[in-house]
Amino acid sequence: MQKISAIKGMNDILVNEAYAWLWLEDLFKQWLASYGYENIRTPIVEDTRLFVRSIGEVTDIVEKEMYSFTDSLNGDSLTLRPEGTAGVIRAAIQHNLLYNTSQKLWYIGQMFRHERPQKGRYRQFHQLGVEALGVPGPDIDSEIILMQYDLWQRLGLTNLELHINSLGNKEERAEHRTALINYFEQHLEILDEEARGRLYKNPLRILDTKNPLMQDLVNAAPQLLEFLQADSLAHYTQWKNNLTLLNIPFVENHRLVRGLDYYNLSVFEWISSDLGAQNTVCAGGRYDPLVKQLGGSENYAIGFAIGIERLLISLQTLGKLPTKPKVDIFVANFGTQTEVYSLQIANMIRQNGYQVVQNFGDSSFKSQLKKASGLGALISIIIGENELATNQVMVKFMLEQTQEVVKLDSLVSKLNNYLKNA
Ligand code: ATP
Ligand code: MG
Repeated sequence: MQKISAIKGMNDILVNEAYAWLWLEDLFKQWLASYGYENIRTPIVEDTRLFVRSIGEVTDIVEKEMYSFTDSLNGDSLTLRPEGTAGVIRAAIQHNLLYNTSQKLWYIGQMFRHERPQKGRYRQFHQLGVEALGVPGPDIDSEIILMQYDLWQRLGLTNLELHINSLGNKEERAEHRTALINYFEQHLEILDEEARGRLYKNPLRILDTKNPLMQDLVNAAPQLLEFLQADSLAHYTQWKNNLTLLNIPFVENHRLVRGLDYYNLSVFEWISSDLGAQNTVCAGGRYDPLVKQLGGSENYAIGFAIGIERLLISLQTLGKLPTKPKVDIFVANFGTQTEVYSLQIANMIRQNGYQVVQNFGDSSFKSQLKKASGLGALISIIIGENELATNQVMVKFMLEQTQEVVKLDSLVSKLNNYLKNA
């Protein structure tokens, strides 16, 4: 029979890697709770129109990266979510979460984009996303950066550079757009096919190009910053001042426009020096217009997403990933008579908070102790028919290579004494 493999660009996460994911997820949860963010879980599949309306028609995602399909039962067009913000805002509006109140929400999960797979770029990948809804900033814009900076410190990530920019408001972007079109019209010969297609639909997206032949052109293009009026400039300046006072280093990157249409004012990316071309680990910004755009009332919003695979690659490069966790205790047993006794003892120990793995099946003393060492157990409890008959067990201290017979009723205190000091 022919074997069936996973879909290209969609990865299995096998046990040796999954340890790092679990460790990271625990750390994320503590970090998010310490800033008062609460978890939200939205469906992986949404109405295609949700993404078209929020991300924007003329963007990489909507033009070529979405996994969309027709629901064969009713003909609806559905899409595997390419990002998490649209679903969260949809849910916030649908369940009236923003009425006279603010929300601080986070999510984690799979995202899907039909991209060319390469290191750090997959068709199924994972994001941790954070959304703060209902607060105009720039105070929260500053806390958002502060909490990211804090996360990198908790993880020991020292190789990330913060890039920031302001995308102003709709009117300012409209003026900039006119200037951009004029500029690009004078250099049509340098524009690639994709850029020409975007020239009148969404010229800002041309600044986002990854085409090396167009970099000089976009570097010299009119900058949005020059079109910002007093309010937007004040928001940007205060944000920058706050970051400076918080001692968070940043680079102003006026070419940073972000790949989705819903952003305004503060935008940012954390760029790693170790990831090659796929170097953005975390990205986001303010997206005040989106709530109204999706049918809610005028509101405020800022958020960001961390690409978990890229974060893990970065941590691995720096040698910051934890090693496989060890179990505390291994229960070795001999003879079919000991089956239930051994299950009971293992469970009694577990109830005292220890991680216990027991032997199954017939194997030699040597091979059972080898298994115990492989699991990193500090103690092996050895149970044979003799121990069963006398209500005792043999306790073997794996590091010291010593052993002693212990009565069942003093086993837990024996383990406590040893493992608390280990
Ligand atoms: P890029 O410019 O690298 O394509 P993007 O602007 O499309 O990134 P966002 O939509 O801002 O990315 O997503 C936030 C983060 O999610 C990115 O900074 C990155 O870490 C991660 N990410 C995005 N697309 C992928 C992908 N295809 N595979 C793995 N991670 C991804
Ligand atoms: Mg992309």
